[in-house]
Amino acid sequence: MLFLYSVLMITNTTRRFWYALLMSMAFLVRNRSMRKWFWVPLVVIGIGFLLPQHLIIPVKDATTKSWDEKSFWAYPWGTSITHKGIDIFAEKGTDVIASTNGIVVYTYEGGKGGRSVMVLGPKWRFHYYAHMDEIRTFVFKPLKRGTVIGTVGDTGNAKGKPPHLHYAITSPFPYPNLYDDNSVQGWKRMFHLNPDIWLR
Ligand SMILES: [Zn+2]
Repeated sequence: MLFLYSVLMITNTTRRFWYALLMSMAFLVRNRSMRKWFWVPLVVIGIGFLLPQHLIIPVKDATTKSWDEKSFWAYPWGTSITHKGIDIFAEKGTDVIASTNGIVVYTYEGGKGGRSVMVLGPKWRFHYYAHMDEIRTFVFKPLKRGTVIGTVGDTGNAKGKPPHLHYAITSPFPYPNLYDDNSVQGWKRMFHLNPDIWLR
């Protein structure tokens, strides 16, 4: 139960993911004629974990010098408390490209992230692109790594700051080895992955 409670506290996306997964399992188990298919969602989850990831830097022509390697989990970080992603700096209007193959699960305008896009990629990892100037994709669009999904901007709480892409990866499945007792919100580190390690 504690596990469920904590996973629901992470992000709206992880909450919706678990809701959809548990509802589909419950539907299969409650339906006498469907019960024999209860393993299907589990196999689908398993296949997702087998897909290779191969990340690329999600801003066109950006290099490893375009973000601060210490910016992930930087503290204090305003109302977010810790910084759960990296900020890739580039000129306003630069293409934002998909870091991995995936499917767009939502686009949003408003709030802290401004114009933002969420992409579900391999291994059930959700890739979040925020503060964009323009969104150039749509919900349910399948993406190939490198596909343009928007442009770098300063929307949301990046207003007045140098334009950058806030890029973050979350997993609805925790990685217990990433639990860090020594850092602020250390338990949340099981769900928020550091993009930096795959981008160099
Ligand atoms: Zn950021």
